[in-house]
Amino acid sequence: MKQRVVVKVGTHVLSEQNRLCKERMLNLVEFLSKLMDRYEVILVSSAAVVAGYSKLKLDKNQLHNRQAIAAIGQPHLITTYSKKLEKFGKIAAQLLLTADDFDSRKRTYHAKCTIDTLLQHKILPIINENDATATEELVFGDNDQLSARVAHYFDAQILILLSDIDGYYDKDPNKNPDALMKKIVYKIQEDELSVDEKTSYEFATGGIVTKLKAADYLLKRGVDMFIASGFDLSDIESFMLLSEHKGGTLFTCKV
Ligand code: ADP
Repeated sequence: MKQRVVVKVGTHVLSEQNRLCKERMLNLVEFLSKLMDRYEVILVSSAAVVAGYSKLKLDKNQLHNRQAIAAIGQPHLITTYSKKLEKFGKIAAQLLLTADDFDSRKRTYHAKCTIDTLLQHKILPIINENDATATEELVFGDNDQLSARVAHYFDAQILILLSDIDGYYDKDPNKNPDALMKKIVYKIQEDELSVDEKTSYEFATGGIVTKLKAADYLLKRGVDMFIASGFDLSDIESFMLLSEHKGGTLFTCKV
């Protein structure tokens, strides 16, 4: 049976100068397409706000405006993915979920049946938070938490976070040039979850702590997680397609 993989890509990776970065999206889709030939793949994609903002420039500091912009951007985002996937003979599907959906066994079950059916037919499910009714992603998390729940409840073996950073370091590498990347992490310490390192990027809401919280959640449930660069996909390609761990951080409970 094929292994199941969830890939989450952050706003920063998908955008440049307040709009979608088509070139990076194409590289991502090419990678996803190769991954789909080996694994069952689910994508969790942010960037609806950035995609909408290029069409209607409302003040993003107001939550309702961000929700409205996301509603404009979401179909644009999915259309862009669909067009690029077509080049590789692949089809996309869209699922808008909220964290609350996973509190209901019935809703989780229905969503999982939908996902299973799509994957059986080699379709790429693209999940985003339903920003009109839920605001977790828009306020904090940039889908890091949602993607962790997706990986656990939809029975994936690994969650891949494609970020603006190429791994998890012993301190913030953007502020400390001597920071060292951790290659494998088996356990998240309590104090690592309390450091409040907010990202400065205007569209992104994640930061490393939301990623570590996702890792902690998954490690406790026996699911692996990998942080790799979304700008240069060579590390994640080596890891997933050649079984060579060159760069990036693996979080695993399997010793
Ligand atoms: P994304 O938009 O991909 O979700 P974020 O920009 O929200 O990612 O979070 C990654 C950022 O977290 C990095 O660019 C980095 O500045 C910051 N960061 C803080 N501490 C660390 C650390 N120990 N290791 C890696 N990145 C860190």
